[in-house]
Amino acid sequence: MRIDVFSIFPEYLAALDLSLIGKARQDGILDVRVQDLRAFTTDRHRTVDDTPYGGGAGMVMKPEPWAEALSTALSGGTAEGESGAGERPTLIVPSPAGEVFAQATAYELAEKQQLVFACGRYEGIDERVLEWAGENFDVRPMSLGDYVLNGGEVAVLAMVEAIGRLVPGVVGNPESLVEESHSDGLLEYPVYTKPSLWRDRPIPEVLLSGNHAKIARFRRDEQLRRTAERRPDLIAKLNPSTLDKADRAA
Ligand code: SAM
Repeated sequence: MRIDVFSIFPEYLAALDLSLIGKARQDGILDVRVQDLRAFTTDRHRTVDDTPYGGGAGMVMKPEPWAEALSTALSGGTAEGESGAGERPTLIVPSPAGEVFAQATAYELAEKQQLVFACGRYEGIDERVLEWAGENFDVRPMSLGDYVLNGGEVAVLAMVEAIGRLVPGVVGNPESLVEESHSDGLLEYPVYTKPSLWRDRPIPEVLLSGNHAKIARFRRDEQLRRTAERRPDLIAKLNPSTLDKADRAA
């Protein structure tokens, strides 16, 4: 998968060199290209923002550098130029006014060949950029949650990690993706490791029983209990046909 990120703070994205995403880049599974939006400006001051039409506080990101930057992602190139081709890319524009990014979104986007992220700053990007980009990209304004960040970079780090780990080969053991929180609409069960007794706290006895059916039932009950307690909204969304008799009793 190819991932282009445009930001006026490319250093922010250095974390994408670390851990599993960094390794996937080294292994050639993820082709992540981070570019400085200011490289696509033409004036001496490398200006990327201006005052808002209609007045109001803050500055708005100018359309011209964005058009230049996004065009390079479209042609498969960089500011320095390079050719390439692929399916229509998805342009993700982090915004608190976007659809909320969820695990289902991560699964959907992990199937794409190319994702392009446009990190906004100030009051955001001139709206016409999104309209113009719609001619060549699938444009998805995307929110990390109902709060406001200073810029899109933190949101991009979160989204690239959530999407990237679902790309085959990024996580060594794909089994570990199956029983995670949100994979089946529930939160994950609690996990424990050695020692079995720590500061007078034993682990649940059933986990030492060796009885796989009992352990599976315990974990499922814990998933249901924890989800009901912490995220009743998720319980309300569950498809009743996915619940067995024991689930209902729990
Ligand atoms: N004026 C904008 C509004 O109220 O919708 C907020 C702009 S915010 C200060 C600057 C940038 O941070 C946004 O353009 C976006 O890229 C990013 N951002 C802020 N909150 C976000 C969130 N919850 N999810 C994703 N990106 C966010």
